Amino acid sequence: MRRTMPFAVAACLAFALVPLPPSGEHPVALLAAAVVTVLIIGSAVIVPWQRMPDWTQTVPPIAYFLAIGFLRHAEGGAVSGYAPLVLLSLVWLALYGTRKQLAVALVSMVVMFVMPILLIGPPLYPLSEWRRTVMWATVGPLSAFTVHRLVVEIHQLLAKLRGLARTDALTGVPNRRAWDEEMPRELSRARRSGEPLSVALLDLDHFKAFNDSRGHQTGDQLLKEAAAAWIEQIRDGDLLARYGGEEFVLLLPVCSRDMAHAVVERLRCVVPDSQTCSVGVATWDGEESPEALVRRADDALYEAKLTGRDRVMVAS
Ligand code: GH3
Ligand code: MG
Ligand code: MG
Repeated sequence: MRRTMPFAVAACLAFALVPLPPSGEHPVALLAAAVVTVLIIGSAVIVPWQRMPDWTQTVPPIAYFLAIGFLRHAEGGAVSGYAPLVLLSLVWLALYGTRKQLAVALVSMVVMFVMPILLIGPPLYPLSEWRRTVMWATVGPLSAFTVHRLVVEIHQLLAKLRGLARTDALTGVPNRRAWDEEMPRELSRARRSGEPLSVALLDLDHFKAFNDSRGHQTGDQLLKEAAAAWIEQIRDGDLLARYGGEEFVLLLPVCSRDMAHAVVERLRCVVPDSQTCSVGVATWDGEESPEALVRRADDALYEAKLTGRDRVMVAS
């Protein structure tokens, strides 16, 4: 609604200028223009366009050329000064439509300019009207497609940026931000479905010593390979994220305490380069916050470290 408002206001403004001369020659055309415009603006409010098939969303901006055609005819044809209204449709589709929809709109625009010249002709539509038609048919597509290309590029960059903002640069798995966004969502889902949900914290053992003896780059490589090996072991709906440093967090939806234990045992056994990890697991009690659940997994991890590392501890 917010984005349609300026366009609707501009479309209505055109009718406020109707009393200016020349006018009043074709009241039926004026009425038709008003009816089509009201239908288009009304549909923007009433019709749930987001849920409609893509092609239907092109109908209002293209139908608007009909309204412009009627309005021009009612107000003196070529001299009416209403031709720039076509920009409302073109800009709208350049911003929110597809390339194909924009192409269809441009053809409709040309039809709107050409038909009156061919069917009605002078004096309302003199030969000079061809000049206007050719100008709009060249400047229109050039401007609209340029804007559309920029909009598409911005959308692509935004999608890429969103992906980067949620991904850990070293390992390629989701990062802490992605985890913080996903976790409450998964807990709500588990609350609705009543299915169990478990969380595990995995921490490489003596990683500082590994870094010190083998070098930081080999340490980085181990982090990458460990993450890749763990990803291999989990299901599509599970989420493995880098929680920070050499600590990873695993979300296991629809996974009971026993199942979670079995899964993380599998993960513990695949750490590359003969290294080991310790794991703390906690299963959601159905009420606790995401933070409380992770804290219980962290306490279990601490237990695993204290009792000798290279093991899984399940929170009580
Ligand atoms: P523990 O078994 O108790 O977990 O001991 P630890 O040495 O694994 O744990 P500690 O917290 O003492 O050290 C973690 C080390 O992880 C220290 C830090 O330099 C290293 N580290 C954190 N992030 C990275 C990284 O991105 N790359 C590399 N190579 N090392 C990292
Ligand atoms: Mg460690
Ligand atoms: Mg650690």
